[in-house]
Amino acid sequence: MPVKAKLKAFASKIKFYLGKSPIIETCEDYKKFIPKPYKAVVTISADFELAWAWQWSKTYNPVELAIEKAKLARKNIPQIIKLCEEYNIPITWATVGHLFLESCEGHKEMFQLKHFENEFWKFDKEDWFINDPNSNYKDSPYWYAPDLINQIIKSSVNHEIGCHTFSHIDCRDEVCDSKVFNDEINECKKEANKHGLTLKSFVHPAHTIGNLDNLVKHGFTNFRTDYRNILGFPKQHENGLWEFEQTAEFVYRKEWSIEYHIFRYIETIKRAIKTNTVAVLWFHPSFPPFVVEQILPEIFNFLNKNRDEIWITTHSMYSDYLNNNCKNQKFNY
Ligand SMILES: [Zn+2]
Ligand SMILES: [Zn+2]
Repeated sequence: MPVKAKLKAFASKIKFYLGKSPIIETCEDYKKFIPKPYKAVVTISADFELAWAWQWSKTYNPVELAIEKAKLARKNIPQIIKLCEEYNIPITWATVGHLFLESCEGHKEMFQLKHFENEFWKFDKEDWFINDPNSNYKDSPYWYAPDLINQIIKSSVNHEIGCHTFSHIDCRDEVCDSKVFNDEINECKKEANKHGLTLKSFVHPAHTIGNLDNLVKHGFTNFRTDYRNILGFPKQHENGLWEFEQTAEFVYRKEWSIEYHIFRYIETIKRAIKTNTVAVLWFHPSFPPFVVEQILPEIFNFLNKNRDEIWITTHSMYSDYLNNNCKNQKFNY
């Protein structure tokens, strides 16, 4: 195991132990953010993207990696849906719009991003959709997922389908102009509409924050950020959007034991209860399957057992609550 990774994992443990991460924010009006009789709010979101997320990653053979990730996500998602039913845990599924499709024949009519590079990706090919198999979900299950979306919609749990753009683009204003962004979102809305769904919650791919005013125009009420790890409160932007700053991503770090992962995520939720704050938790469903078998059930069980104290809700439900109770108010954080 590389020494650097070991040291990083150890430093993270120390910061967590000392209470320095997640940062605990205070607010005089904290009661407005936590509806009675609860002591904390917990949201869990999942970035649902299959192969779309990794196709431009700056690694050797990114498409192969994208397929590997998609295989894991396909294996995990039905299990996660079952677990959510067992413990009644709603998830906000930030869904790549292309996954709604049963089949496609390319997307020539859509505006595309020009070449760009960011921290994680490099796009330098002639066509953004060059890896799209122009096929269907049975033959190419890593690029389409109407079957999984239907499982989520039909579940007894009140999940939310949110938006993660149509093809997992970089949304920053300097990379993505309104024409590209609007095309992407309109495609998502068109497909969601076929299921009677209204998209309200947005997660920018790789947290490439941008096009915020366009989000408002499309009817979104909230988005998630990852600038820091915080147990705090949502912030409302001038355009009305609510920003949910992340508390923690459920990840698997091989330097930590299974027991430590469980301890850490449950302890994070306990701190939210103790400090009357909002925990914004999220994950990529492409983690190793033992996370779903051994770690998630413990977290979900804890949430379920303590649901008298914790409002476990989706991003859009919480945004609706905020719009009814905290809209356009100034808070001292
Ligand atoms: Zn396609
Ligand atoms: Zn993503």
